[in-house]
Amino acid sequence: MEDKNLRFETEVIHSGYVSDEHQGSLVPPLYQTSTFTFSTAKQGEKRFSGEEEGFIYSRLGNPTVKILEERLAILEKGGAALAFSSGMAAVSAALIALTKTGDHILCSQGVYGCTFGFLQLLKEKYGIEHDFSSMDSIEMVEKAILPNTACIYIETPINPTMKLVDLGQVAKIADEKGIPVVVDNTFCSPYLQTPLTHGCDVVIHSATKYICGHGDVLAGIVVGKKEWIQKVSRTTQKDIGGIISPFDAWLLLRGLKTLPIRVDRHCDNTEKIFQFLRNHPKIDAIYYPGDADHPDYQIMKKQMKKPGGLISFSIRGTKETAQRLMNELNLIKIAVSLGDAETLIQHPATMTHAVVPEEERRKMGITENLLRLSVGLEAWEDIIDDLEQALEKI
Ligand SMILES: *Cc1c(COP(=O)(O)O)cnc(C)c1O
Repeated sequence: MEDKNLRFETEVIHSGYVSDEHQGSLVPPLYQTSTFTFSTAKQGEKRFSGEEEGFIYSRLGNPTVKILEERLAILEKGGAALAFSSGMAAVSAALIALTKTGDHILCSQGVYGCTFGFLQLLKEKYGIEHDFSSMDSIEMVEKAILPNTACIYIETPINPTMKLVDLGQVAKIADEKGIPVVVDNTFCSPYLQTPLTHGCDVVIHSATKYICGHGDVLAGIVVGKKEWIQKVSRTTQKDIGGIISPFDAWLLLRGLKTLPIRVDRHCDNTEKIFQFLRNHPKIDAIYYPGDADHPDYQIMKKQMKKPGGLISFSIRGTKETAQRLMNELNLIKIAVSLGDAETLIQHPATMTHAVVPEEERRKMGITENLLRLSVGLEAWEDIIDDLEQALEKI
């Protein structure tokens, strides 16, 4: 099913799977096996040499995982994809594959807390340097690129302040210099944003979030050009081994079918919550790319289908005020992660970004009174009621 005319809502259900190849099973079967038998020694030899296509051992490939990878490659408009055991396994495999000692990575002003930690590890153990840039203008990006810059690593929207990076603008400069651009597309899912169509080269997902959508799997995805993905598959992924389990791949295939329906609802609910919070006297500032006053609103219009399901806000008061608000909530759960059916609230300064030194945190705009909501699929009225009663009490 690689019909180019199929729409996204159809592709999430059908692409990458041919039921005739699996006994007519409507749903992709779960191949819960570690290894695959060869009918003869010669066949084993041919599988290993690459002369014959086929499965060998589940770290090197598994039929359920392959369906997921093919589906995600199509959804992200890429040549091929690889699935990993977590978002961080995907981030680390992609960065290891793209860099070597002495190289430099140019990053967006904010990155996921553990990605920040991994960049630190690359620097300390392997001499791979990095810098952060807000990438606000062409000149700024050009100035930040060094002779040894091996890749540009972007998150947009940036967690938790929802600043955006203009993907097309960065990709154009990077392309002129032959530098690959990697985008962590977790916050958008391929339904809202497809960085490869803006000229970027590699897309990463923590599939734990919107792609799974049900809060019951940790997984990661890397999408890129076919030759590069094949190389990563045969080297970094195979030898480091952070592969996804077939069962988790099966659950992701199940979750993916409702991705557009879920994300539409996440976006609609978030818009309602934005309307409620923007006029609330106890809210100091609000960070939401769907806000027409957001400095990057035009970039949102250009590269995102909708503003997404995340919204951050700072409360008038201190860290204690923010924590008190969290404790007063009933329906909304205190938890990190995002993209689940349940609405989740977290305190970035002490949770997701606690590992980032205070000075860096300040540069990223993460204050002590900042809170981030991952808006769920509940009735928006109930989410707002919960926020309203908690805000009354602080
Ligand atoms: C959660 C997350 C990751 C890490 O993914 P895991 O599945 O938790 O390993 C990376 N990037 C972003 C933007 C995330 O939200």
